[in-house]
This record gives sequence, C-alpha cells and structure tokens, in this order.
Amino acid sequence: MSRSTLRQPGPRKPGKPVESASPAQKGTLSPSRGERDGERGLTSIPCSATVPAAGSKGLIPDSLPIPASGPALEFSLTGQKLTAHSGIRDLMDDLGRAMTVDPHMLMLGGGNPALVPELQALFRERMRELLDHGQAFDRMLANYEPPQGNPRFLKALAELLQRTFGWDVGPQNIAVTTGGQSAFFCLFNLLAGRFEGGRRRKILFPLAPEYIGYADQGLEEGLFVACHPDITWPGGAGSHLFKYRIDFLAVEEALRREDIGAIAASRPTNPTGNVLTDGEVARLSALAAAHGIPLILDNAYGAPFPGIMFVPAQPYWAPHVILTLSLSKLGLPGTRTGIVVAPEKIASAIGSHTAIMGLANSSVGQQLVLPWVESGRILQFGPNILRPFYEAKSRAAAAWASECFEAAGVDWAMHTSEGAFFHWLWLRNLRLTSRELYQRLKARKVLTVPGEYFFFGLPNDWPHRHECLRISISQPAQVVRQGLELIADEAAKHAR
Ligand code: PLP
Repeated sequence: MSRSTLRQPGPRKPGKPVESASPAQKGTLSPSRGERDGERGLTSIPCSATVPAAGSKGLIPDSLPIPASGPALEFSLTGQKLTAHSGIRDLMDDLGRAMTVDPHMLMLGGGNPALVPELQALFRERMRELLDHGQAFDRMLANYEPPQGNPRFLKALAELLQRTFGWDVGPQNIAVTTGGQSAFFCLFNLLAGRFEGGRRRKILFPLAPEYIGYADQGLEEGLFVACHPDITWPGGAGSHLFKYRIDFLAVEEALRREDIGAIAASRPTNPTGNVLTDGEVARLSALAAAHGIPLILDNAYGAPFPGIMFVPAQPYWAPHVILTLSLSKLGLPGTRTGIVVAPEKIASAIGSHTAIMGLANSSVGQQLVLPWVESGRILQFGPNILRPFYEAKSRAAAAWASECFEAAGVDWAMHTSEGAFFHWLWLRNLRLTSRELYQRLKARKVLTVPGEYFFFGLPNDWPHRHECLRISISQPAQVVRQGLELIADEAAKHAR
C-alpha cells in the first residue's frame, strides 16, 4: 500500500492537548506505533501531543458526561438465541450452587459424577507425579497446545483404539475439545443449518428423550428433529419397569421427509440410562451410511471409557461415525476435556473451531490421563471401578424408589437402568406437570430435572414429556434416599 493512500494526521500544533483535537479525532484511541507510521484507518495523533493528566477523563471531552449506568445493550440474533432461557443453564446453575454455596440442597439434579475413592486416589497420585516431575508440570501449565490437541495424547489414543478395537484411526482422526459439550456445539452447527443453494439440514435424534445439553445448541432455530420411542415393558405390562426402544419406521420416515445432516444419539442415553443395543447401533450406522451422512455417538458414559454400563455393549466406530468421549464422567469434569474420534475432515474442522473460539484446550486433563492412555489402563477403570460403583448405587436407588412410591400410593414407573447414573421416573396421573413438581421439590431443597427439557425436536407437545423426572444417583446414599422420600411425598400430594 502506498503512503499516499494512508490517512495522514491533520495539522496540529505541537504540545496541543488531545481534548482539543479536531472533531474527526475526538473519541479515538491513543495512537499505536504502527499508527504513527501511517497504518490504514486509524486517526493519528502526533507523538508530541501531551498526555492527559492523571484523573482527567482522557480523550472524552468534558461536554459529554459519562452516564451513571451502562448502555442498553442490544444483542444480535445469534446473541439472542444463545442467551435465551435454556434448560441446561437452569440445570448447571442449580448444580453449581448445590455443589458450592448451598450444600443443604439434596442434589439429584445435574450430571455431576460421584467422588469415587479409588479413582480420586489415582488422580492425586498422578498429580503428585506431575508436580515432582517439574518439567512436565511446567509444560502443562505454561504452554498452549495445538488446537486439535496434544500430539502425544492424540497419538497414544489413536494407537490404543487401533490395537484394542482394530479401528483404522490415526492422530489426524482425533480432536480434543473443551468438554463433550463444546464438541456438540461444533458438530451440530457444522453438519446442520443453512447450506449453499438454500438447503436447510437438520440433526436427527432417533430416540427422544435425549440429552438436555443438546437442546439449545443450534445457532439457528429448528435444527433438530426427534422421533417418539416405542415404550416397552420388559417385566410385563403390570410392572413398574419400562424401556424405550427406537422406532425404526419413524426414523426411516424422518430420513425421507427431512434433509438430515447427521443422526445422533447418546449411549448410554442421558436422561434414561438406556443403552442402545449393538443391533440398534448397527442399524443406525447402516441407515446413516445409506444416506451418506455421519452417525454421531455420544459416549459420555459408555465404552471404551468411562465404561459406566451395566449391560454388554461393544464400542463402535466406522469411517462415517463420529464418536465422542469425555473425561468428565471418569471423575474429571473440572479439566473440561472432550475427545472426538471422527473422519479426518471433521477432526480438523473441530481444531479450526477451537483455534477461533479458544486458541487451544486445557492440557491438564490430557496430561493427567496420558500414561493410562499409553498403557491402556484407562480401559480398565470402567469395568473394575466405575461399573460396580454406579451399578450398586443404581440398584439401591431403584429399591428405595419402589419402597417410597409404593408407600405413597403414587402411580409410578422407572426406565430400566443399563448405564450412566440417572433414574428416569414416570409419574402418571398427577395434577401438575413435571416442571411444576420440580419447582415444588426445589422449594423443599430437592433438586431434580423436569422431563420437559429432554423432548426437543418432536413435532408436537407429547403429554408424556410432562410426566417424567430425571434424578441423579451419583451423590451419597443418604442424599439419594432422602431425596426420593421427598419426591414420593410431594407427588402423593398431587395424585389424582
Ligand atoms: N453428553 C452427555 C450425554 C452428557 O450427559 C454430558 C454431560 O452431562 C455431556 C455430553 C457433556 O459433558 P462434558 O462437556 O462434561 O464432557
């Protein structure tokens, strides 16, 4: 660019205070060195201009008073979408308060993992090892990682997946994110929304209810389509145990009707603890392949890690599958570490998102678990520690629920608990919605999550969504038991 095209400083007497600059200069920032050298678009002030005296209002003339309150800020349409009321914000606010400033709340709400003593001891030991090994500790805190993740971590994980499951993946197929939550924000907005030629693609959830954290992640309205489940009664129609299954006819119909960019499901499913069978996954995978779209499997609780599953289920990946993992439910949500195993183009796109949104991810989680990924020990934590721990909790909670609801005379049922750490209650014939019940329970210091939030993407307001309540069983036994007693007591007050 020639100097003649640059905006030149106007004539000014040396030593003239900045406040009395020409109108074009009022309110502009102090000049940088580059600006004095004539960079484009910035109004320049000669270096001889006097610096405003300390305590003065700097560049703002006295005639423009500073208002006592800030401006009435207006948000863009995207900003409005991201700041509108959301279930996940309520849930995380409830959870965060209960875990910090309101310890008297019975926290049956959000998905905080339990403190599992055996794993806590391992995390502490490993942290001590990092501290003692000064260089690794310094590097962990002092360096930015590449946006797609720590190269040694990516390599170790790719090798582990290759040698254990025979998946054809390399480091280029893996991307680290700030928790699984940010991975989904990237993936959904990458694969659905407005496309060239005016097309609008959507994400298809084959089985509602689905994870509350997805519900508000679309930058555009109407990004999601979901299918009603088949409700089955594995213990017989008169039992209190039900199980949702995928209605494949509905899924196929949705694939014909809508322009779908990806099929997505959590496995185990949050909120229900349902684990899609290997057969269901294979069928979804075949459908996705036939439509030339990816299948996204959210493995926040499942295999290969953290492995909180009480029924047999194989980890699954294929070249059109996007598998997401996380360190959170292993017991490390504070490290905010999500992992995406995907086609190279997707993994690289996630790295690009990370660079733009946050430069890099936290390296703490990756460094903490690195030796266990290299050795493969990370695959043992589920079967040896987490599965028995959470399965025992799940069984105990189911027995207390049965006791409490039967005693209270409430019309109740519970989804089969096959993994994760929730129970999904179906409370029928109440005179209030589950959202109202949640509010009454919160007033009695019991946190739950109302069912309404989990049924996004359905075409109509299915009455069933007002009859369900998700409870977490990760907290200590007395908290879960007392919480269940209060839920049954409150529900009984509103029984028809
Ligand atoms: N997916 C599911 C099904 C979840 O339940 C959660 C958290 O509860 C996440 C993803 C996101 O977890 P994180 O961002 O902590 O990895």
